[in-house]
Amino acid sequence: MTTYSEIFENNLAWIDAKKAAEPDFFENLSLDQKPDYLYIGCSDSRVTAEEMMGLQPGEAFVHRNVANLVVSTDLNVMSVINYAVRFLGVKHIIVCGHYNCGGVKAAMIPKDMGLLNPWLRTIRDVYRLHQEELDDIRDEAARYNRLVELNVQEQCLSVIKTASVQLSHTQSGCPTVHGWVFDIKSGRLKDLQIDFEAKLKDIKKIYNLFE
Ligand code: ZN
Repeated sequence: MTTYSEIFENNLAWIDAKKAAEPDFFENLSLDQKPDYLYIGCSDSRVTAEEMMGLQPGEAFVHRNVANLVVSTDLNVMSVINYAVRFLGVKHIIVCGHYNCGGVKAAMIPKDMGLLNPWLRTIRDVYRLHQEELDDIRDEAARYNRLVELNVQEQCLSVIKTASVQLSHTQSGCPTVHGWVFDIKSGRLKDLQIDFEAKLKDIKKIYNLFE
């Protein structure tokens, strides 16, 4: 494990490596940001954002919370989406969940989790929405994996329900919303192939916010 003081040594080594590859790296970085991607992922320490995607500083705007939730009353995530879409003009919004997610696991256990209750309720609501499908899965590990995927799908819908995404997509064709799951055991990213255009069309009957 890395010690606290080693972090600062690592930082200096990282600066050297970046400058060796590109002498003006930090000067260029300080000018502005124009990332193509907004990444919304889990806070889990095993699921990195830029590293697993091979992205460099400046390429992704990142928001992380427990179980990668997009709650419409959460001013934090809503501000991130609004800023990323309206001001940064991101082309893609990615909601990335992961198998073995502790937040999703906790939500599967119907018991009092104290302060976490309102947060976990969003995942429990996903379970309730898809109860028939989930209850048909006998194997608990498989059911848990499927809830991780369905949670990503529902959080993608939550992103699509925002006025900023609907407006921007109509005006410029961007952004597109994607749902991914990271498999910790293999390191692989799985694209859930969410049909963004179809989902956008589906939800507009109820959630159309600007026309
Ligand atoms: Zn997680």
